[in-house]
Amino acid sequence: DARASFLVISNRLPDAPSAAAGESERARNVGGLVSGLAPALAARGGVWLGWSGGRRPGALELAVDASSTPARASFDFHPEWHTRFYNGFANRSLWPIFHGFPGRARYDESEWRAYVEVNDVFAEMATRLVAPGGTVWAHDYHLLLVAASMRARGHSGPLGLFLHIPFPALDLFETIPWSRALLDGMLAFDLVGFHTRRYAQSFVRCAEELARATATSSGVRVDGREVRVGVFPLGIDAAPFEEIDAATEGEIAELQAALRGRRLVLGVDRLDYTKGIVERLDAFGRMLELHPEWRGRVSMLQVAVPSRADVPEYAEQRRAIETLVGRINGEHGEAHWMPVRYVYRSYGRGQLAALYRAADVGYVTPLRDGMNLVAKEYVAAQHPTSPGVLLLSRFAGAADELEGAILTNPHDRDGMARDLVRALEMPAEERIARHAPMLERVRRSTPEVWADAFLHELERR
Ligand code: UDP
Repeated sequence: DARASFLVISNRLPDAPSAAAGESERARNVGGLVSGLAPALAARGGVWLGWSGGRRPGALELAVDASSTPARASFDFHPEWHTRFYNGFANRSLWPIFHGFPGRARYDESEWRAYVEVNDVFAEMATRLVAPGGTVWAHDYHLLLVAASMRARGHSGPLGLFLHIPFPALDLFETIPWSRALLDGMLAFDLVGFHTRRYAQSFVRCAEELARATATSSGVRVDGREVRVGVFPLGIDAAPFEEIDAATEGEIAELQAALRGRRLVLGVDRLDYTKGIVERLDAFGRMLELHPEWRGRVSMLQVAVPSRADVPEYAEQRRAIETLVGRINGEHGEAHWMPVRYVYRSYGRGQLAALYRAADVGYVTPLRDGMNLVAKEYVAAQHPTSPGVLLLSRFAGAADELEGAILTNPHDRDGMARDLVRALEMPAEERIARHAPMLERVRRSTPEVWADAFLHELERR
């Protein structure tokens, strides 16, 4: 049997061509999953299965590229899957409801059927690639049903799922018309991992209430089987953000020259309504209103990375952001000072490191976020003797670990404006005292540590 002993499955592969997904050239395949998983798996071998990013009608073909580690296996989506599975059920049903936006979640029977079908296709491809007793690690909300389908195809080895997004409270979860089927799908894995305790507890609670499972010390027991539930917060590789090279030094100098002594408040996100970009801009404008002494002395830069641009809610969010940026600049700006700079594009790691390093405040205020790696990257990029301040939403998974941040509530505009001023005025000793333990923690908690912990638990049977 030439099949692999280890298989990773995620919807997208790290280097899949993003143009095929209808995104612009300026958008790379950016996101926390890819940032975390690619380095963690580089040493491990095996095969990584995902969608190629392409769309093609006709018969399915599995392409294997053995030139990278792990080897990449990919297939094109039927055009209908792109609409119904990816843009549809995954991004317009599961994404909003799991992030706590019931008003944005919409449900369509044909999209659900596509979700079931595509999960089955992933399972079929997976079974071709991995030995029956091999280890399989599936990622994220696109693939909640693959384990059941792989078991039905005779897979006997360990099956693990890591969810990179939040898991909602019972009263939200049960509003999904197919909540029971989704839950049963998740309970078909041997190990289900989350970023935080809160998400794990919500999952256990749903299993108790909807699937008559019993909570145990390690997870739940359901239909005579044990399903382990674990907390594995994803980290980053801090080194590339800590070590500022000559090119990055140049970028920082240029940026500082452009700021002409003004303080910099920085937001970096995929353009997504969960990130709270509108609320954040609004609070920045409010701060300028409440604290006119800061006018002309501070600028905000918001980097918004193009994402899911063909989903209507995302196009609408982009318009809302661009309108608000215009309004704040119109209301508060001067010929010689623009309060907000806004760029709709993605940056590479070196440029991001320079932006983080130059920023006095890392303004990271999602309404809800599974983890948020940008917060950790900001911490890593600060100079230990003159660090900036991380202003972090309580509703980011990262808030559980980054105790030195100022934790803020993105739903409270005045409170966030107050916290901004507090961040801008924080004395150096306090900034250092808050930053040092966070940096220690960020350095230790690498993607490798995360992957090792998950896989160790998965293979311990
Ligand atoms: N990122 C990037 N270029 C950009 C903006 C972001 O490469 O211009 C990366 C960033 O370094 C981080 C990831 O995208 O590693 C975003 O992950 P996060 O967990 O913050 O959010 P997600 O996009 O997964 O919701």
